Parts: sequence; structure tokens; C-alpha cells
Amino acid sequence: MNKRPAINRIVIVGGGTAGWMTAAALAKVLGTQLHDITLVESEMIGTVGVGEATIPMIQLYNNVLGLDEDEFVRETNATFKLGIEFVDWRKLGHSYFHPFGNFGVDMDGIGFIHYWARWKQSGGGMPYSRFNAETEAAGKRRFMRTSGETGPKTMPAINYAFQFDASLYAAYLRRYSEKRGAKRIEGKVVDVTQCPESGDIRSVTLESGQVIEGDLFIDCSGFRGLLIEQVYKAGYDDWSHWLPVNRAVAVPCESAGDWLPYTRSTAREAGWQWRIPLQHRTGNGYVYCDQYISEDEAAEKLMSRLDAPAMADPRTLRFVTGRRRRCWINNCLAFGLSSGFLEPLESTSIHLIQVAISKLLAMFPKNGINPRLVTRYNDEMDYEYDNVKDFLIAHYKITERDDTPFWQYVRNMDIPDSLQERLDIFKARGEVMARQMELFKETSWYAVLVGQGLEPEGYHPVADAISEDELRLRLTQIRTGIQNRVESMPEHREFVRQHCASP
Ligand code: FAD
Repeated sequence: MNKRPAINRIVIVGGGTAGWMTAAALAKVLGTQLHDITLVESEMIGTVGVGEATIPMIQLYNNVLGLDEDEFVRETNATFKLGIEFVDWRKLGHSYFHPFGNFGVDMDGIGFIHYWARWKQSGGGMPYSRFNAETEAAGKRRFMRTSGETGPKTMPAINYAFQFDASLYAAYLRRYSEKRGAKRIEGKVVDVTQCPESGDIRSVTLESGQVIEGDLFIDCSGFRGLLIEQVYKAGYDDWSHWLPVNRAVAVPCESAGDWLPYTRSTAREAGWQWRIPLQHRTGNGYVYCDQYISEDEAAEKLMSRLDAPAMADPRTLRFVTGRRRRCWINNCLAFGLSSGFLEPLESTSIHLIQVAISKLLAMFPKNGINPRLVTRYNDEMDYEYDNVKDFLIAHYKITERDDTPFWQYVRNMDIPDSLQERLDIFKARGEVMARQMELFKETSWYAVLVGQGLEPEGYHPVADAISEDELRLRLTQIRTGIQNRVESMPEHREFVRQHCASP
């Protein structure tokens, strides 16, 4: 019987966000006493150089590492992020906010949306967004960390993520990893040697001739998928027919001075534009589909729409939205861009790196790789990608826009059955039936579906069990609680200065 070798030597190929997040987590959790952790990166090739907006789950990752949050914000020139503002997505001149926190409070075992839907249908005029503290704080450019326990029942903790400089984050994690014994080797991988019997990777060879042997290889080499695709030919599911954007032109500009505590996504003629405010600059990019606009025109449009002077020349990136058919093959796993790419509309890529790391750690094959675990890992990663995919497609499909060929295409395209089913249920009953393992929960779906203009026609009958006066009272209390809480928050920039400045 073939005995699979124990895993002692882990080689990470690539030193972008994926590579250093992996090195840091493995160095912390597995330690470097029993495991040899080596990261190879090529300065000449460099990193993708974008990826600055995150979602709240990154706090879990930072907590596992034991990072001090104020230090992390300082080291990465980060700002706090309460959600994403979607401008012109539903129709020109309209905007809505996808916050990280809940709307209202669930009551009597059913979601707040049912009470709001009843109220709306009986003539109540206040938009759904007014019942969310993050949206209120974002609008006033305020921010504060809150515990949630100290306030009244109607006040859950404020949910937030970060907007940071990706190269500073990688550098920060590199210092962290090296301090804990991870090794870094600079050089370009030019060859890979496999075991002829098992097909496992034995070693990678650098341009210098140096050979690096390992038991487990983690491909963090970016879009090229140096090991997972070039060695193992994993294959790729192309989702461009649902998510047709395939280029991005990116450029940093000077900070406009406002440090908005949120990312802005503005729908454009052939895609959308991001605006990510950091402390020292603002990241901008136009994500578009090359069938509807040329590279030069996209760059021109982006440069003309900056709100402060550019700090560099625009840079174009090409990608295909989709996912690697298998992210774990033999003794090789692909993390980050080498595992697939969902366009950055909801800032999910860094999160998917984190998910991949945590799944590997949970299933860590110390005593040899079990093919059943490999299958399980691949199935679970497929599930993660699928759910995010449906959520992203919903942003394009539910729109009133038809002013350009791009919007006409996405508005009329077929969508996956899983998404259609969800939209039908939501329209009929005000529910999205998110499963426990799904990244985007009810709150996110409600924010986007209602924001894009899809409102429920029905609601849960339990919402009818209270009187009209009681309903009005409850909604007013929630709204007042949110206003009071936000009034007590400092301005976002002031909060960063007070808490995260150099000691
Ligand atoms: P890279 O950054 O490409 O790193 C690859 C590494 O592999 C580099 O160190 C390179 O030198 C090394 N390498 C490659 N080949 C070799 C070789 N032969 N030998 C040695 N080393 C090699 N994510 C978010 O979460 N939020 C966002 O807002 C967001 N915005 C994005 C916008 C755009 C336009 C794009 C394209 C992506 C965005 N992402 C975002 C995704 C995010 O940028 C990536 O998930 C993240 O940066 C991880 O990239 P990576 O480390 O996998 O790859």
C-alpha cells in the first residue's frame, strides 16, 4: 500500500497578499518548531498590486494572529469600512448602501424586514436603510468601535472591516512571519519536479539553480496558477457570461481629505468604478468588459473622474471571472488568485484566501494526505465560490438601467437557477433563506435586493400579530436608538487619529 508522506516542510510559492497571509497563519498556528515554512517570491514578477477593501471576517484572521488592531491600522495606513455605497446601480441618480451590520432587530422570531414590509405596504414612508446604524454612521462619516452589550436591546455592535494598502499589509505580515521563523527566499521558480509514481510535487527550482524541496506546496502565484494550472492542469470554470467584466484599470490618487468610512462603487457605462479611501491616498479603478469599451477609453474615463490628482499612471489588469475546477490536487493547494477570481464588487477575494487557510488548517494532513479530505476541501471551496457568485450576479441582473449595451446585456442575461429561486422567494415572502455556511447572510441580500429595487410583495404573517400602534412604536424606537448612537460617535478621521496614530 502506498503510504503518503507526513507533512513537515511547507513551501508557499508567491508573496502577495495570499502568500503572506498563508505564511503568517501557518507560522502562528502550526509553529515553525515542527514545520518548516518557506515562502518563495519573485520581486521581478511582483504582485497584482490591488485588493485593498475587505469585509468584517478579516477581523477573525487578524485575531488568530493576535494582531493589535490599532497597530495594524497604523502599519497599513488603513481606514475603517462600514460597507459599500452603490451609486447609479439601480438607475442613474440613485444610490444605496450595503452595510456590514443588521437592519433593525429581529422580533418575535422573524426578521425585521417583515415588519418593515408590513409598515411600507400600509403607507409607512421611511426607507429600509434608515434602520441600520452602519448606514447612518457612514452617511455622517462617523466611526466608533462598540461592544453592543452596553447599549439598549435595539443596539447591536457596529460591524466593520478595513480599507488598507495591500503592499503594506503584505510587508507587515512578512515581518510577522519571519519573526516567527518562516523563511523567505527571493527568486523566480522556473521548474517543478514531481514524484513519478504519485505525481506529488517534490521540489521547485529557482532561476539561480536553487532547489527547494517540500511535502506540501501552496500555490499563491497569482492568476498564472504556476503549480495548480501549469503543473496539474486543474481547469477553470469561466463565469464571464454571468459576470462579464474582464479588465480593470487602476490608479491611486491623492487623498481628497475626507477618509470616507466606506468603499464606493459607481456603475459606469461598461462596468463600475471603485473608490477606496486610505489614510495616505485613495485607490481608484474602473472594472469593465472589453467588449463594450476600449482599454484607452476606460483609462481616459477613469482619469477624468478622479476627485484628486493622480499619483501614478493608470495600470490595466486582465482577468477572467471564474474558479479553478479543483483547488487541491495531490500535495498542492491553490490560494488567492491562483484558485480563481470573483470580480471585486463585494471585496471578497481576501476573504476567500482566509477561508482557504482556515479549511487547510482544519483538515491539516499532518500524517499524509487523505484523498477524501481533498474531495471535501474542493467541495467546500466550490460552495464558497458559488454563493458569492450568485450574490454578485444579483447586483447586475436587478437593475432598471438599460442606457448602454453593457447594462442591456446584464439586465437580460440568464441567471443561475439557484439565484432565480432565491429572487422568486424574496419577492413573494421577503425571505432569502440564506444557509448557515453562506458568507452573505439575510442582511446583505436584503440591502442589495431592496437597494436594487426588488421589494417583497408579501411578508411573514407573524408581523401582523401586533397592532398598528405597536408597530409604529417599535420602529420609532429602533430609529431613535440608531440616531442617538450615531450622534455619539466621533468623526471617522478623528477616531483614527485618536486611536491608531503612532504612539
Ligand atoms: P499576486 O498578488 O499576484 O501575488 C503573486 C505572487 O506570486 C507574487 O509575489 C509573485 O512575485 C509570485 N510569483 C508568481 N510567479 C512566480 C514565479 N515563477 N516564481 C516566484 N514567484 C512567483 N480583493 C479584495 O479582497 N478586495 C478588493 O478590493 C480587491 N480588489 C481587486 C481589484 C482588482 C482589479 C483585482 C484584479 C483584484 C482585486 N482583489 C481584491 C483581489 C486581490 O487583489 C487578491 O486576492 C490578492 O491580492 C491576492 O493576490 P495573490 O497573492 O493571490 O496574487
